[in-house]
Amino acid sequence: MKISFYQYNYEMLKNLLLQNDLSPSGASLLYNWHYKQKQIGSCTHNLALATQAFIREYLSFTLPEIVNVHQSSDLTVKFLMQMDDGQKVETVLIPFQNKYTICLSTQVGCAMKCSFCFTGTQGLKRHLKTEEIIGQFIMADRWLRENRPDDQLLKNIVYMGQGEPLHNFDAVKTASEIFLDQHGTSIGIQKITVSTAGYLPGLIRWNEEMPGVNIALSLHSPFDEKRNELIPINQRYPLAEVLKYLDLIPLKRKQYIIYEYLLIKNYNDTDFDAHATGELLKGKQAIINLIPFNPFPGSLYERPESSQVEQFQKILGLYHLPALIRGTKGDDILAACGQLNTK
Ligand code: SF4
Repeated sequence: MKISFYQYNYEMLKNLLLQNDLSPSGASLLYNWHYKQKQIGSCTHNLALATQAFIREYLSFTLPEIVNVHQSSDLTVKFLMQMDDGQKVETVLIPFQNKYTICLSTQVGCAMKCSFCFTGTQGLKRHLKTEEIIGQFIMADRWLRENRPDDQLLKNIVYMGQGEPLHNFDAVKTASEIFLDQHGTSIGIQKITVSTAGYLPGLIRWNEEMPGVNIALSLHSPFDEKRNELIPINQRYPLAEVLKYLDLIPLKRKQYIIYEYLLIKNYNDTDFDAHATGELLKGKQAIINLIPFNPFPGSLYERPESSQVEQFQKILGLYHLPALIRGTKGDDILAACGQLNTK
């Protein structure tokens, strides 16, 4: 059975070639062809005949298939992508001033069961493989170049689609190494963000293993009682433990831990919640993203008043914490945070 080319980071690919008595220089040619030049079809350019034969026999270049595309009036694009085994995930392109951020899924469904999340209602079906994460990027990038050639390409990656990225640590780590590699897509290290609900086993591994990409925590409340309801894994991995490990992450100048705060009307959007959040985060190298909740069919919660969202932001300012109010792009196609579902 053939093995996917897209599962190999650069070092792994060089080793694979070496182990098969082939020149490791093939790795740079292959990366250049597939990731930098974004060619479709096999690379034969400058490759030794023996390497070409090896690739034909052992490597596959299969990518996910785009089975559905929804385009929002605000130019957000939501793809439904089908994997080899028929499982489907969603990938979203979020526009910002002619550039796009891609929101990647890391699992089919999710085991975390957050109470505000459409995806969480599905349960976990399986982890995505590295090549399936990379494949979402390649397919969305191809679609963009074919359909919106005047726009600039993908420059930002967020792992905020379906799934808890740190629950699928190895695949997310290898995919990030591939995105970062200078021989390939060469995405800037500050342009990649991994978002976690606070999955402690992954945070414990972070410093030793993950290349220095950004991390975002879904905070949503400074109080364990509320987090327990919103993010049930908080019962197992309480906020204080999670923050302890986040505080250990070395940050460069102008690098921040991002705290995502989903504002839910009359639940966690009060002045009291804002002050408690300010107390919790003051003095940290933090940016807070305030996200007004997007109700979905059957959701338990309501969208907050805009005036209260602004008030929340102002209160955080008193603690010298920069807080951005995030638009809810893609509302009309259910592509906003926590609304991804493969049905
Ligand atoms: S919000 Fe994220 S971690 Fe929570 S259930 Fe949804 S996909 Fe999983």
